[in-house]
Amino acid sequence: MSESVGLMGGTFNPIHIGHLIAAEEARQEFCLDRILFIPNRIPPHRQNETGLLNGDTRYLMVNIAISSNPAFRASRIELDRPSLSYTYDTLVELKKTYPNVEFSFITGVDSLLQSPWHKLDDLLKLLKRFIAVTRPGFDEGRLVGRKVELGLSEGDKIKVLKIPGIDISSTKIRERIRNGKSIKYMVPDAVESFIYKNHLYDSDNGSRMTENTEFLILDSS
Ligand code: ATP
Ligand code: MG
Repeated sequence: MSESVGLMGGTFNPIHIGHLIAAEEARQEFCLDRILFIPNRIPPHRQNETGLLNGDTRYLMVNIAISSNPAFRASRIELDRPSLSYTYDTLVELKKTYPNVEFSFITGVDSLLQSPWHKLDDLLKLLKRFIAVTRPGFDEGRLVGRKVELGLSEGDKIKVLKIPGIDISSTKIRERIRNGKSIKYMVPDAVESFIYKNHLYDSDNGSRMTENTEFLILDSS
């Protein structure tokens, strides 16, 4: 039987329990063998955003967050590609390298409702399914109209998956840090320590960390 892999793309700035629960629910519901977290390098629709930490830091936090789940892995495929991070390009590359793997892409419904999707119909052709997980504040019922609006021929591959509502976003977490509010239990403990020890998100100048920055990962206290 061919391997079945779920792909969870995002900026993960930072990764939080909403991402982890979404991925774990999708893994279980669709019997996926593993989940690959793919941090974006430059998301096309977020090029002018301030406060995006550099890719290496976000990738490191993803690795810290997923370390306890043997089915979870992180991939640098988009970070190592110099161009904009189009999911379609990622799938073309993955399909070339792993022609026999069945890929499912996982997003929150917000992403499908709001973000522009480059070559979505072509992307769907490369996927086994596109899993849209529910997210508080976004009406999954609107997906039906959205599919029509986008004129998708492969729209049937989009499956809505109801998950426990997690009203957490990376934006809210960054705001809470700036305002001195607790983020405990919103991110895994080790991610929380990593953020504080390295003073991430203290200011809006998120990209100040360079690739050579040395991180204080281990708790030596
Ligand atoms: P930001 O506020 O910076 O946009 P985010 O929390 O939306 O951050 P992203 O990195 O943009 O996180 O999201 C990656 C993927 O995870 C997207 O498909 C998004 O819809 C999904 N996602 C993020 N948070 C949740 C959540 N709480 N519940 C369900 N899906 C989520
Ligand atoms: Mg988002």
